[in-house]
Amino acid sequence: MPKCPMCGYELDRIHRSPLERALSRVYPVIRFGCSNAKCGWAGRIMDRDKTKARLLWLLLCAIGFAILYKFSEWMANH
Ligand SMILES: [Zn+2]
Repeated sequence: MPKCPMCGYELDRIHRSPLERALSRVYPVIRFGCSNAKCGWAGRIMDRDKTKARLLWLLLCAIGFAILYKFSEWMANH
């Protein structure tokens, strides 16, 4: 678990709102809240591993579409 940037306490994972869950489909974030009641820090931390995987997947899709597009062009000309 990461530490609070304000006080250094352990952070707790907070359940996300439906909006955040929808957002995390394109921009994966994890929501954390500080376990120190006096601090009360809460924030979102980007899920780097998931973001990387998502970007890689998007790239593969883009390449796939480009190949498909070229192929259909080739088919139309032959
Ligand atoms: Zn804190």
